[in-house]
Amino acid sequence: MTALPAVAPDTEHLEYPRESCVLLKLGEIVLKGRNRHQFERLLHSNIRNAVQDLGLGLRIWQRDGVIVLAPAAVGDLADPTAQAAAADLIAQRMLDVMGVVRVCRAVRVAKEPQAAIDVAVEFAAGRPGSFAVRAKRRDKRFPVTSAELAVCIGSKIQRQYGNPVNLRQPDFTIYVEVDQSEVFVYTDGPCGQGGLPVGMSGRALVLLSGGIDSPVAAYRMMRRGLRCRFVHFSGLPLTGPESVYKAYGLVRQLDRFQGGSRLYVVAFGRAQQRLAASGAGRLQVVAQRRLMLKTAEAMARRLRVTALVTGDSLGQVSSQTLANLTALDDSVRLPILRPLIGLDKTEIVAQARRISTLELSELPDQDCCQLLMPRYAETRARIADLRRIESRTDADQLASELAETAREYRPAWK
Ligand code: ATP
Ligand code: MG
Repeated sequence: MTALPAVAPDTEHLEYPRESCVLLKLGEIVLKGRNRHQFERLLHSNIRNAVQDLGLGLRIWQRDGVIVLAPAAVGDLADPTAQAAAADLIAQRMLDVMGVVRVCRAVRVAKEPQAAIDVAVEFAAGRPGSFAVRAKRRDKRFPVTSAELAVCIGSKIQRQYGNPVNLRQPDFTIYVEVDQSEVFVYTDGPCGQGGLPVGMSGRALVLLSGGIDSPVAAYRMMRRGLRCRFVHFSGLPLTGPESVYKAYGLVRQLDRFQGGSRLYVVAFGRAQQRLAASGAGRLQVVAQRRLMLKTAEAMARRLRVTALVTGDSLGQVSSQTLANLTALDDSVRLPILRPLIGLDKTEIVAQARRISTLELSELPDQDCCQLLMPRYAETRARIADLRRIESRTDADQLASELAETAREYRPAWK
């Protein structure tokens, strides 16, 4: 093994200043060329918002393709244990921040070979299985080469903990990166949400029922950088408020991916009765959905949203045939985004479980769409027929009145 300069013997514990921090690996955001700085700024601001309630001073800095976060070492945080606990909390929160591909807990040490080695060896403590060490040296003046560093750390870990080395398929990997003014040591961390920072793609209004699909649709669009507002249509006063509680709970669950969420609730029962009274018949469901979309569009300007989002999936229910979706598109000018259009129910359910909305969605409620359901729902709605019903009910006027009555709630995750 290559001799290392000034390496202290194993038994002697040398204290080098070290700092607990978090490394965030970014995906697509690093590819965005010219707008990259704008994206980074947005992501930094989302990161700050995600930890704001923790009351930690947060330092953020950018190293190529990686964001480094560290709790500010004030008060208690000067204590390394408290600092490590604070970094753990920060890392936990980063798992929900869109745009982050991987979250790694790291330690930052002075540019001393011994400090890097000590910390790297500690990272293996208590971890079972085979391992690999990957070292990278950006500053070639560092007195130890990457290969020497890796070999030295590897053999120490083997000796101290008995883990076997496996460079091909290790159970865990320890990374050591020697930078210009510091060394980072870290291991593989868990995957983050990926995607793009919330807000990067603008804003949308999600039509949120109490069902399984629409919360998943919202999640998918947030992950593509849309900041989402939510509107829920309840059957009130013809139904109880259960669906509103569900919508509230769902938005609260989704809020952890964006913060600052707003839910608008529209009592839709009377409007549904009006459509039924105008003889909508088999078109009742599609006519209701058009009125929901028109109402959402009437709210759009005030909410500064430029798209609507629904949980439609092609052919899943009778209102989601191609002809009916076409008839829905015809009701508004805003684009309707349907991120679940090509997904099977099982795929949607799996995602709902992963984002913890499934349990809430499965609670019983009286969905407004089940009210006044025709015995046979039309699967091939004709736009001309729908327009006729709408002129009888003065649907555009009705939509703007409904938009006026929307009640705002702020379900917050934290
Ligand atoms: P979900 O599981 O999201 O309720 P679904 O399979 O029950 O969807 P539909 O009832 O046809 O399908 O609704 C399709 C989409 O229309 C929903 O995903 C949602 O975006 C919107 N929608 C339906 N009902 C409501 C409602 N009461 N309030 C707001 N949006 C609704
Ligand atoms: Mg539904």
